[in-house]
Amino acid sequence: MQSHWLDGALQTLSPIEALVYRSRLIGDEPSLGLFGGGNTSTKAEEPDLFGRAHTVLWVKGSGSDLKGCQARHFAPLRLDALRHLTTRRRMSDEEMVRFLERCLVDPKAPRPSIETLLHAFLPERNIDHTHADAILSLANTRHGQALVRRVLGPELLWIPYLQPGFALSRRVFEAYRRRPTAHGAVLEQHGLITWGPDGKTSYQRTIRYVSAAERFFARQRRRVRWSSRRWTTRPPEERMALLRRWLPAIRGAVSRRRKACVAYLDTPDVLEFVNARRMPTLARIGPATPDHMLRTKRLPLIIETRARAATERSPDDVVRQVERYAAAHQRYVLKHRRAGQALQDPYPRVILIPGVGMLTTGKDATEAAMVAQIYTHAMAIMRNAACVGRYTSVSEREAFGVEYWPLELYKLSLAPPEAELSREIGLITGAAGGIGRGIAQMLVDRGASVVVTDLSRRAVEQLAEALNRRAGRRRALGVVMDVTDEGSIERAFDAAARAFGGIDFLVSNAGVATVAAIDRLHQDDWERSLAVNATGHFLVARTAIRRLRAQRLGGALVFISSKNVTAPGKEFGAYSAAKAAQTQLARVLAIENGEFGIRVNIINPDGVFEGSGLWKAIAADRARTYHLPPSRLEAYYQGRNLLKAKVLPADVAEAVCFLISQRAAKTTGCMLTVDGGLREAFPR
Ligand code: ZN
Repeated sequence: MQSHWLDGALQTLSPIEALVYRSRLIGDEPSLGLFGGGNTSTKAEEPDLFGRAHTVLWVKGSGSDLKGCQARHFAPLRLDALRHLTTRRRMSDEEMVRFLERCLVDPKAPRPSIETLLHAFLPERNIDHTHADAILSLANTRHGQALVRRVLGPELLWIPYLQPGFALSRRVFEAYRRRPTAHGAVLEQHGLITWGPDGKTSYQRTIRYVSAAERFFARQRRRVRWSSRRWTTRPPEERMALLRRWLPAIRGAVSRRRKACVAYLDTPDVLEFVNARRMPTLARIGPATPDHMLRTKRLPLIIETRARAATERSPDDVVRQVERYAAAHQRYVLKHRRAGQALQDPYPRVILIPGVGMLTTGKDATEAAMVAQIYTHAMAIMRNAACVGRYTSVSEREAFGVEYWPLELYKLSLAPPEAELSREIGLITGAAGGIGRGIAQMLVDRGASVVVTDLSRRAVEQLAEALNRRAGRRRALGVVMDVTDEGSIERAFDAAARAFGGIDFLVSNAGVATVAAIDRLHQDDWERSLAVNATGHFLVARTAIRRLRAQRLGGALVFISSKNVTAPGKEFGAYSAAKAAQTQLARVLAIENGEFGIRVNIINPDGVFEGSGLWKAIAADRARTYHLPPSRLEAYYQGRNLLKAKVLPADVAEAVCFLISQRAAKTTGCMLTVDGGLREAFPR
């Protein structure tokens, strides 16, 4: 690991700005700590309310991330008040949190880190605390203390494991008082602390010790094979075939309490770990640092498969394994919980499958990827530790103490409230068109994740990129799909499974139109309309229904149909007949799938011009049908409805959002008009 410190950078910075500079350097290194892991501080003389000098401790706020942090993520506290606590013998967490709040110089500051007292008690000016992979690899080994001394030298204190909080802060302070010349401390099964009179010293000590540990493990890995291989990686198509069978069952099982997104990762590092003979033993020992548990839980679920066996485990068997994991988690909670502690989601966040890779879960793809990233670091730590001895972790009781620690759970409460369609995943056909795009945008705005499909790769990829930018998270995937091609449909649903774990709803929207009186209609045009507007909906819906049923989470299908179904127009035979077939298809789907909790509904829009490729293609012909100049066509449609309303893609999108949401939980087989009111097209 390299130092990225620039000597000139601090010249004009205030103490808090210098702390932000240093914290960002640390946050930019994923192998020093991930997603809110680690914290930093500085002590500075500042005037108080009356202009008198006093010392302020600036420490990172609870739950914020060092990566990209800003001054507003740090809390300023009165150091003299905090230092009074060094004479206290014990203090409860609740008392500590209240005390810290009352020491805040700025009442609007974030809640200070749970490790604040550690920073306050040590008299050193600048302190950095990280959960560095290479240090954890030493600190999580059976003879960790001796190993730390051998590899990192005598200047670091060794602190046996204690849960973060008041007692740990005192323990570190006492060790420091016995040896004030130390450069820092290694916290067993937890991480590294370094300090220094200035930020540069503190930062560079972190880099120096972490680099020394990294060099040590690089040498060890060259000399020692950490494990022999027990399983072999299946070929990609076999892995996909297995996931196609298992993923709906797994996503269904882990979503019993709250729906989860499931991401799949099969990088060489992940495959090496899951295929190793020692993997099941290592992975069942415990977390690499308590901080990881907030996202990964204490243990992963390991689904073992027999190598090259002809008969694979059935999806039902995999579901039983997920349920067994949840039952074991419930027993663990019942065994250790204290009054007032409620069971959190008992389902696994990390699932390891030998020969196949790793699945991780989260509220969306961004969170699932976060879990995957954390566990990838945990794998590296376990691999390192296994090279030099026996990997160790905190005891089950200690793990529970952190996993269900209210101060740790507080970090999760800082996330914004979830939107109505959060955790819902859907696939939209014809998404590059005006209506499709409008639907995709509103779904993402309401919290859903979407797979946007259409014929043009460029169009769907651009749309997905724009949607992800809009959401600020990974919530859309662009996939090329031809609704008339079964292979293409299967591939698109596979891509959805790989990225999000499955789907909860389908918006079957792709359509084409031709204008011609039936006596002049070419057979090719008739067949093209049936292929896209009828058969296309059948093929996509059939795949969606099969996958939804396998997931056993219910689901929703919404068909974008047309006003023409109830009130056909002349010279629109090919379109109207195919749309009528689509509508009847939807109704039969509703009849056949009620018992599976899958709702199927139809939206009949009329005259939606905005951004529409379909209208661009037929506007001139349609205008001729009504003896109008093409420029008057839109006004004609608007003028013929009862509300004299211009129907927009957003109006159709609103109806889609309603029909897939729980607000429409009792509605299936319904036809909803979005046409401004057309008497002849009233559904009956
Ligand atoms: Zn920590």
